[in-house]
Amino acid sequence: MAKPSTPDARPSAEVVPLRPVRPCPICKKPSLRAYYPFCSKRCADIDLGRWFSNAYAIPGSDEDNGSDDGNPPEKGG
Ligand SMILES: [Zn+2]
Repeated sequence: MAKPSTPDARPSAEVVPLRPVRPCPICKKPSLRAYYPFCSKRCADIDLGRWFSNAYAIPGSDEDNGSDDGNPPEKGG
């Protein structure tokens, strides 16, 4: 019995996903994988800062009571 010698030469097809690079939402630069979806740690921090800013700014909880302790006015002079 003679085995049919089949050539094991497969064409190396490079599968490249056609995925468009999303620009950084902060500065619109092409994002890096390391900081996806941002382009750098700086932009990631900026976005994080914005997020926290919104989280801290809670509407309705703006209590600002002026301390009326009757402090004497500063005398210049
Ligand atoms: Zn950026």
